Amino acid sequence: MSLEFQRNALIEQLRREGIRSERLLNVMLNEVPRHLFVPASETNFSYEDIPLPIGSGQTISQPYIVARMTEALLEGGPLNRVLEIGTGSGYQAAILGKLANQVYTIERIQTLHEQAKKRLASLNIKNVECLYGDGSLGLKEYAPFDGILVAAASEAILPNLLDQLAEGGRLIIPVGATFESQDLLYFTRKGNEFNKECLDIVRFVPLRPGVA
Ligand code: SAH
Repeated sequence: MSLEFQRNALIEQLRREGIRSERLLNVMLNEVPRHLFVPASETNFSYEDIPLPIGSGQTISQPYIVARMTEALLEGGPLNRVLEIGTGSGYQAAILGKLANQVYTIERIQTLHEQAKKRLASLNIKNVECLYGDGSLGLKEYAPFDGILVAAASEAILPNLLDQLAEGGRLIIPVGATFESQDLLYFTRKGNEFNKECLDIVRFVPLRPGVA
């Protein structure tokens, strides 16, 4: 079975599982091929709906979760400026890059940061800026953001991230004990009030302080 065939099947599966945004499904099908974001040893599994190892003990998230998080940000309103915390392979950032005007993504593991930066450059994605550092405090110098997506699990809600949302902006973040499953929380800013919803139960690698 060709990778293209498998990618088609995965997108059909996401649609059956309730992903509704045709714009997003089209990006995942035609613009950002997941097999280019995994190590060569994982190529044959790239279109399975599972997380995969990307080195340094980290993983590229499951496609359904990438789609669910991205769709939630998209449905909440326009996405001009977006922040992702936890670049990993760069897959989620590349997808956001096709849907938002400007994306900032930050990674604390230098080798992953360097690889993702090269990969995005080779795919000619120019509106995603890769930064190396600790993203747990957000990125004040580029705030406010219409969307903040945290791709690692936090033990607590991070008030700095809420502060960096624009009016109407959305934060999506897995919160809970990092060795177990987490609540996928979705916050929407209205003035200084934040509406909170739990979208799903998820299992992410932990958000860690500092850089490596
Ligand atoms: N979005 C990624 C998957 C990320 S896995 C993808 O599409 O491939 C989570 C990533 O978050 C890991 O690479 C981990 O190193 C990173 N991370 C954890 N804590 C962090 C922090 N405080 N700041 C920045 N990145 C962090």
